[in-house]
Amino acid sequence: MAGVGIQGVLQRADRLYRRVAGACGRTVAAGGSRDPAGNRRRRAARLAERGHPWRRGLAGALTAALFLGGIAAAQAQVIATRIWPARDYTRVTFESRAALDYSLFALKNPGRLVLDLNTEDADGLIAELQSKVAAADPYIAVLRVGTNRPGVTRVVLDLKAEVRPQVFALKPIADYGHRLVLDLYPLVPPDPLVALLELNGQLGAPAGRGGPPRKVSVARLATVVIDAGHGGEDPGARGRRGTLEKEITLLIAKRLKGLIDAETGMRAVLTRDGDYYLALGARVKKARDVKADLFVSVHADAFTRPHARGSSVFTLSQRPSSAAAAWLAKQENDSDLIGGVNLDTRDPILQQVLVDLSQTGNNDHSRKLAGAVLSELGQINSLHKANVERAGFAVLKAPDVPSILVETAFLASPQEERRLQDESYQDKMARALLAGIKRYFAKNPPRPQGPLARY
Ligand SMILES: [Zn+2]
Repeated sequence: MAGVGIQGVLQRADRLYRRVAGACGRTVAAGGSRDPAGNRRRRAARLAERGHPWRRGLAGALTAALFLGGIAAAQAQVIATRIWPARDYTRVTFESRAALDYSLFALKNPGRLVLDLNTEDADGLIAELQSKVAAADPYIAVLRVGTNRPGVTRVVLDLKAEVRPQVFALKPIADYGHRLVLDLYPLVPPDPLVALLELNGQLGAPAGRGGPPRKVSVARLATVVIDAGHGGEDPGARGRRGTLEKEITLLIAKRLKGLIDAETGMRAVLTRDGDYYLALGARVKKARDVKADLFVSVHADAFTRPHARGSSVFTLSQRPSSAAAAWLAKQENDSDLIGGVNLDTRDPILQQVLVDLSQTGNNDHSRKLAGAVLSELGQINSLHKANVERAGFAVLKAPDVPSILVETAFLASPQEERRLQDESYQDKMARALLAGIKRYFAKNPPRPQGPLARY
């Protein structure tokens, strides 16, 4: 072990301790329910073992457990807890300085989820979750926290409906330490197209029992999907005055939706309508599910240089138009790591969406849309670049929906931050985006069945 250093030895021993403690304390899932927690831990343990064969000795493991028990418990202390309720799913996040060991099981009649965390709630941050559950939370009725046994804090969630839980760990990134994430998805995910039609009163009353199947009649409206960048765990860029990009993008997106819905022959759908994170692939999927004619992702990032100013519009390309555009695309694509996406159980449909599909035809329309929007933005703000830029943004990968990403302004610039906070400026920005979209539709009217007819 020469050359490893005491810190390295302590860290390794600590990991070992957690593995041993986790194996001893593993809870068996009740009623045949899934145990993604156990799967995850076993996989992590296998990986760890492969990388560090010296740790296979049981004697060493036990010594480490006895020697370092106190330290491990202190390191795994929970330092923050958050709940992000949304129609799409509810997320509970536990942030800690070291990876948390855990087990999850489900109980029926009444439906409950039990999450055991191998930590003491010394600062009461886990208990704080009890008061953080909103009455309107679609999935959690009540959340209770208590000490199950020394070293194990138990979180019990009384459920309002049957859910599909997912639990996964995220490694430290950006401002975050280790995170353990519990997502509660509805058993049957809502169909965004049906939700949209119901919202617009385009679906008749459900047919009575025994009656003919309900027919969905869809008036042909140009559908624009507006994607408010970031959200929930992922705040995006931060201005010096504390403005968060995720808040600005949602405000502008909502204003733009209001303007589009007021137009005849157009309607808008938001990928998210609250403060929660959506995977980049889920945003793309939503656009495809509602048979979008256009997809507009709204951002207000920082940039490589603090003095960067002006608006930019991007389209998808594997060949970035500049090093700065490539850098920005990398930042945006990191959103999934910061916002927290469970890579182990990612929806296969989402994966399919994000594979490299042919972009022929779609790129052309994306560029036309980008050009129209850029020229309108030039009327209200300076332009960061005079031309449409391009880079490999994952959120622009719908193969059949013309897609653009708009950097409305740079939050890192104090002047632009002030403007972005101003409601009248947000309105101006939304109106410029609408003008660009209308300019595009004037020359490229939506196809009778929409570009998705062939899918
Ligand atoms: Zn952004």
